[in-house]
Amino acid sequence: MAFDSLSDKLQNIFKNLRGKGRLSEADVKAALKEVKMALLEADVNFKVVKQFVKSVEERAIGQDVMQSLTPGQMVIKIVNEEMVALMGSETTQIALKPGNEITVIMMAGLQGAGKTTTTAKLAGKFKAKGKKPLLAACDVYRPAAVEQLKINGEKQGVEVFSMGTGNNPVDIAKAAVSHAKNNNFNIVILDTAGRLHIDEDMMAELIKIKEEVKVDQTILVVDSMTGQDAVNVASSFNEKVGIDGVILTKLDGDTRGGAALSIKAVTGKPILYVGMGEKLSDLEQFYPDRMASRILGMGDVLTLIEKAEAQIDADKAKEMEQKFKKAEFDFNDFLEYMGQIRNMGGIGSILNMLPGMGLGGKMKGLDAGATEDAEANLKRTESIIYSMTAKERSNPDILNPSRKNRIARGAGVDISEVNKLVKQFDQMKKMMKQMPGMMKGAKKGRFKL
Ligand code: GDP
Repeated sequence: MAFDSLSDKLQNIFKNLRGKGRLSEADVKAALKEVKMALLEADVNFKVVKQFVKSVEERAIGQDVMQSLTPGQMVIKIVNEEMVALMGSETTQIALKPGNEITVIMMAGLQGAGKTTTTAKLAGKFKAKGKKPLLAACDVYRPAAVEQLKINGEKQGVEVFSMGTGNNPVDIAKAAVSHAKNNNFNIVILDTAGRLHIDEDMMAELIKIKEEVKVDQTILVVDSMTGQDAVNVASSFNEKVGIDGVILTKLDGDTRGGAALSIKAVTGKPILYVGMGEKLSDLEQFYPDRMASRILGMGDVLTLIEKAEAQIDADKAKEMEQKFKKAEFDFNDFLEYMGQIRNMGGIGSILNMLPGMGLGGKMKGLDAGATEDAEANLKRTESIIYSMTAKERSNPDILNPSRKNRIARGAGVDISEVNKLVKQFDQMKKMMKQMPGMMKGAKKGRFKL
């Protein structure tokens, strides 16, 4: 299986991490030296490895270990997060034009990378999403390629546009796009010719097609089994032709993993899909987080880490609840509280959480303008609190008129706004005291605190 060797090595390294409480520099450095070797052996690009190890080291050394994790697991947590970031963090979708406008996608890649197979696989994905794709056979150098596309297209129930091998690829691509226009297709996927190696003629042909047919998306297909070569191929295509994304094939094989980890970092272009077998259904959307857990091969540990994080959230919520109950809540907590609930996303939910702000009941059907107003209010509130001294934030009772005046000047607001905030804050504190059950939602994980 792909990544087996890298996974095994990483697991052994993490198992050997010892130490308590804090991650010692020596432990982390020794472990990361081995991680570096393991990644290089997995054919990850040298520069990528160097940067990766540096980032992990900076984050790991001296870091407190979460109570429910071992130091080894703590390092796995950081390595996992950095791996996800390396692969682009988010899943990238192929950008399609809206409605029935035609999106032209050009597939490129070396011979044998899996381009023709992947073209048909991709058409199947679009069809499943309700799109109407047309495949165009632009590889005029190999009659077998045209045949192969026709057979695969038929299997997918997708029409293949072909003019045999007697025309030039640019003309075929143009004819395919007008055929698509006349027959209500909304995606055209051009299967172009590959070569055994990067070659100028091939690049020139791709550039010409791209220009003359107004290609919207250029997708490069590379074979993950070729490791660093796949990354070099991606770099060359990106420099010369310009690509929008990569599909990495044959990840079902015994690949060492280097290409998956290096492509985004080296080329800046995301991996869109991965080929997981020869069948036309074997194409999967690329998820950086899932790929990282697969490479680490530690699904159970990662689940444990998630639970530990959830525990910390719950602990924080409990701490906050205690503060509410005892009315120890001050402006520092208020700031932290606003920041935390902001993470929940959406001003609506934030304001609903602040009954003392007097907006809770008015939130239903909030329009965009009102949301903007609310955002602006929230920012002003924050700037007022930031204009307070540390002492004032922790002892709001000392806020006399002259202090309020100074704060108002600092925040650039009228003193009446400062008075209003202090009043609202007092009201909120009172309400919080009466509502010990309010934080229950947070403990259930409904909102993150
Ligand atoms: P092209 O020359 O780039 O068009 O490559 P083809 O589409 O003809 O594929 C070359 C070979 O790779 C064929 O035997 C395919 O079945 C195989 N292939 C393509 N994608 C995958 C994949 O994701 N996994 C596996 N195992 N084989 C693949």
